[in-house]
Amino acid sequence: MDAFSINMAYVVSAVLFIVGLKRLGSPATARQGNMLSSIAMLVAIVAALVDNAIMSYQMIGIGVIIGALIGAFAAKRVEMTGMPELVALFNGFGGLASLFVGWAAIEPSSEVFTAFTIFLSILIGGVTFTGSIVAWAKLSERINGRPMMFAGQRVVNALIVVSVFACGYMFSIDPSDHTWLYAAIALSFVFGIMAVIPIGGADMPVVISLLNSYSGLAACAAGFAVSNNILIVAGSLVGASGIILTQIMCKAMNRSLSHVLFSGFSAVSNDVVEVEGEIKPISSDDAFYVLEAASSVAIIPGYGMAVAQAQHVVKELQELLENNGCEVNFGIHPVAGRMPGHMNVLLAEADVSYDQLLEMDEINPRMENVDVAIVIGANDVVNPAAREVKSSPIYGMPVINVDKARTVFVLKRSMASGFAGIENPLFYKDNTRMLFGDAKETISALIRQFE
Ligand code: NDP
Repeated sequence: MDAFSINMAYVVSAVLFIVGLKRLGSPATARQGNMLSSIAMLVAIVAALVDNAIMSYQMIGIGVIIGALIGAFAAKRVEMTGMPELVALFNGFGGLASLFVGWAAIEPSSEVFTAFTIFLSILIGGVTFTGSIVAWAKLSERINGRPMMFAGQRVVNALIVVSVFACGYMFSIDPSDHTWLYAAIALSFVFGIMAVIPIGGADMPVVISLLNSYSGLAACAAGFAVSNNILIVAGSLVGASGIILTQIMCKAMNRSLSHVLFSGFSAVSNDVVEVEGEIKPISSDDAFYVLEAASSVAIIPGYGMAVAQAQHVVKELQELLENNGCEVNFGIHPVAGRMPGHMNVLLAEADVSYDQLLEMDEINPRMENVDVAIVIGANDVVNPAAREVKSSPIYGMPVINVDKARTVFVLKRSMASGFAGIENPLFYKDNTRMLFGDAKETISALIRQFE
């Protein structure tokens, strides 16, 4: 196929990607958006495969088989609750792939610009890879999720950045000398780790979306390195949408990006958070009577709903409440769960209507008129310390104000803290009742009462 036809196919693919992304903007058109983006990817892959520049179909075949086997095995084995970690790993391997593409594109006669784009794809790819591995380890609690900081950290980081760019410069002016390249790879790996370890606690969503963006930028740089237009376009789309998501996450937490990246989450100690009041547990029998009399209920899901896989029983409870003449809405916090859109995905799986999913800004003004707020496995995103306790690490982060509802039921298994590892004064408030137990079992018990 000639270069013109290939580029035309890439243009079609790029347009489909853009329209697909636009459609992903609303839950109602998201499926269509996904479909269009998949077609775009198919067009791009077919065009790349028939491109004359392809050197070895045999190697591609072997790569596809190995990749498909590992991907299928990983996707089959992973529990639904492990999805955020899997997404973090996929980001990381996207970065590693870009690193390898850049590496493979090196020719001793490469021009300075090409060599520099190769260096960039290696640098961003390497940072994305090790950064994502650290994020994966933090999310899966293989390492402590809290920020790790030490004296002189910024100086060390600055030195790494200067050194890696010095290596990139030396490599770009003489691509035949691989010593600088290996040094750049090693430093990019170290920098990925150093960039993510100081970030933790409630700031993690920003890291996840930022790494997502980096994986796109790495692909974009790899696109320049191998002169592939669709890789440049698709990489920049992922890079840009990741940055927009990062902005949304920062806004959701009322933190600036520079603050998240350089200040560490628990700069303020948790010890000074004093909690007053006492815990008041309630049985599901008693909770049922309160719910039966309620005329408006707000359901606030969090990570625990994903752990308990309670979304289907939540939908059943919603229907029973509505049949009883109660108005039911869901309040979705942007960082609830462990990945962007986590709650929306789970509730969509259970066929909860999109109109009933209210964002934080929509549900908060209604909270005072809500009879019962049911908090299902959410903790950090409903923590009133964010409003009331100046010394709290999450002070200033907008939360769903469930404590303003007439009654609050909190469904969780114990008094354990949430991802940010901080106390939650909500549990001790006068209008809060704790419904201890696995969320799915507790809701099933409530459903049995209704039936
Ligand atoms: P949290 O992590 O704050 O709290 C989850 C709660 O669920 C826990 O208190 C836990 O208590 C409870 N829980 C766990 N399993 C069950 C179960 N089977 N049944 C009932 N309850 C259960 O979750 P939130 O959604 O409120 O907040 C999200 C946190 O994760 C924020 O700090 C956010 O910054 C962070 N984060 C978000 C990401 C994103 O992209 N959305 C990415 C990375 C981090 P117990 O053990 O007592 O049951």
